[in-house]
Amino acid sequence: MSEGSPDRDESDGSIDECVFTCPACAQEISVNSEMKQAILSNGCPVCATSVTEESFVK
Ligand SMILES: [Zn+2]
Repeated sequence: MSEGSPDRDESDGSIDECVFTCPACAQEISVNSEMKQAILSNGCPVCATSVTEESFVK
């Protein structure tokens, strides 16, 4: 007999992931929202070019 345990999937895709493409060095990096904020503040992790929201796509 099943007691109906709640079916919780740990991978529920709630993390807001997107892909950063550097306009200067063309590096593509998958980032989550924390990394996105870090790149917006610090620039491209590869070449340090400052970037905007437009460099991020879902
Ligand atoms: Zn770059």
